[in-house]
Amino acid sequence: MVRWLSMHVGYACRHTGACCGAGWPLPVEHGVAPALAAAVSDGCVRPADDTAEWMTPHAAAPDGVAGTLRLLPDGHCVFHQAAPGGGRQCAVHAALGHAHLPAACRHFPRVCLVDGRGVHVTLSHFCPTAAALLVAAEGAVSIVEGPAPVPGRDVPEGLDARDAWPPLLTPAVLMDLEGYDAWERHMVETIAGARMRGRSAAGAVARLAADARVLQAWRPGGQPLAEAVAMLADRGDDRDEDRLDARGLFDEARASCRAPWTWDAAPADLAALDARFVAPGWDGVDDVVRRYLAAHAFASWEAYQAGGGLAVVRAVARALAVVRIEAARAAGLAGTEIDRAMITATIRRADLLLRHYATFDGLA
Ligand code: SF4
Repeated sequence: MVRWLSMHVGYACRHTGACCGAGWPLPVEHGVAPALAAAVSDGCVRPADDTAEWMTPHAAAPDGVAGTLRLLPDGHCVFHQAAPGGGRQCAVHAALGHAHLPAACRHFPRVCLVDGRGVHVTLSHFCPTAAALLVAAEGAVSIVEGPAPVPGRDVPEGLDARDAWPPLLTPAVLMDLEGYDAWERHMVETIAGARMRGRSAAGAVARLAADARVLQAWRPGGQPLAEAVAMLADRGDDRDEDRLDARGLFDEARASCRAPWTWDAAPADLAALDARFVAPGWDGVDDVVRRYLAAHAFASWEAYQAGGGLAVVRAVARALAVVRIEAARAAGLAGTEIDRAMITATIRRADLLLRHYATFDGLA
């Protein structure tokens, strides 16, 4: 079974080229390298600078990887080049088709979790097409069945947790998969779905943190965990909702950047920028931010690698902190209040940090 969030399930690449010009090292597997080499050699595909050099071999490349796609000085992949009708296109995709692309190109922007329940797919919103889906979506977000994320592959690349223990509830208690499934659904519905109940994005995160702590009192042998999760919906809202330590969470993400990537510190005048440019316009973008946070609650690797259900809530809170602080930076630079176009660009930056620059070990 393959599950998506309802706002993502219609995703299709629109060839914006954001991934092709991001300057990332893009691995080329031994399985695709010979066909690419042959296509370059016979002139079917030409690198943009009209050389025959298309791959940078790496002696210490991981198993199965021959090297990385050569990058031009502007950070673009050598195969990202002028299209006949204007703009740019992938020369490999145009000449040979999707199946001949390296796995990283076929997967981006999909972020997949595979566990005993099936395949779960969320997206990196660094992709402009994925970010636009957050703005275009209407109504409650839900978890739905959908197509295989990568055509031709039953099991996509991503975190394969099929042989792992289920996520932790506490350091000493495991969840079961039915219980985690119910908790994942609860998170999505509380943030952006049927259980929103008029809460803001920050209110939803605070509510989930409180729910996670309540759930940690559950013990095996009595009520099934999934039933305990279902009962969370009937709890009254907590009076002393958590305050988000936005700067601390943001600094966690910054500190997790892998070399050579770095990330600027939060603006020194953050509180003033937020009060002047972000807070007044936040209600107008809160729905977009909530959908973004739902995408960090769903298909979360933190559930397996960073300590279970509570760790996922922390990852969602971190995503909110990064968006809020980057919104203040962007709005301050523009000298205007935050709006839907600016929050979309801000979310792209937030996922550049959280999904691509930060190392998972660092965040965990
Ligand atoms: S091979 Fe094609 S899809 Fe992959 S990075 Fe290069 S231009 Fe983009």
